[in-house]
Amino acid sequence: MQEVMWEAVKTCDAAYDGAFFYAVKTTKIVCRPSCKSRTPSQHNVKYFPMFSMAVQEGFRPCKRCRPDLLVIPNEEAIIQTAQQMIEQEYGSNLTLHVLAKQVGMSKYHFQRLFQKKVGKSSLVYLTDIRLGKARQFLAETELSITQIGHAIGYNSSAHFSVLFRKQVGCAPTQYRNQVRGDQS
Ligand SMILES: [Zn+2]
Repeated sequence: MQEVMWEAVKTCDAAYDGAFFYAVKTTKIVCRPSCKSRTPSQHNVKYFPMFSMAVQEGFRPCKRCRPDLLVIPNEEAIIQTAQQMIEQEYGSNLTLHVLAKQVGMSKYHFQRLFQKKVGKSSLVYLTDIRLGKARQFLAETELSITQIGHAIGYNSSAHFSVLFRKQVGCAPTQYRNQVRGDQS
């Protein structure tokens, strides 16, 4: 593996960006494999699977290839995955614990990252998606309130009704009548 990584460093192979980082012991700088800086001597190179690990050992990010900025797309990808999961599996029991575990982060870090990237907590995001679906079901289907509650992940229809009233401003049945009344 060291040979493969060394080859990537020598050829500035961008395909390995994010797969690993390399640091130069003499300059105390950490780079992406694709960095166009002068190729260091092989015996001065140290490899890291993660950028943060190099920083922990005292290496500074290269100003030319900015390996510190490469961390951001990874965070974006994590949050996108979580959002997709919420959008597709809003009907199941998606707790913070489940979401954090799915993307391989601690609950604490996931919660903070999600809030930072999306502007609301994952729970609020999930509730928004669920209530959006509920409105759609109420307007377009003949499903009962209990069935809709189940379909969007609430086992108790009372809980669903209370939440709906709080967020939308009227009971689910009222909403259905209003929407249908407007349409006819
Ligand atoms: Zn660099």
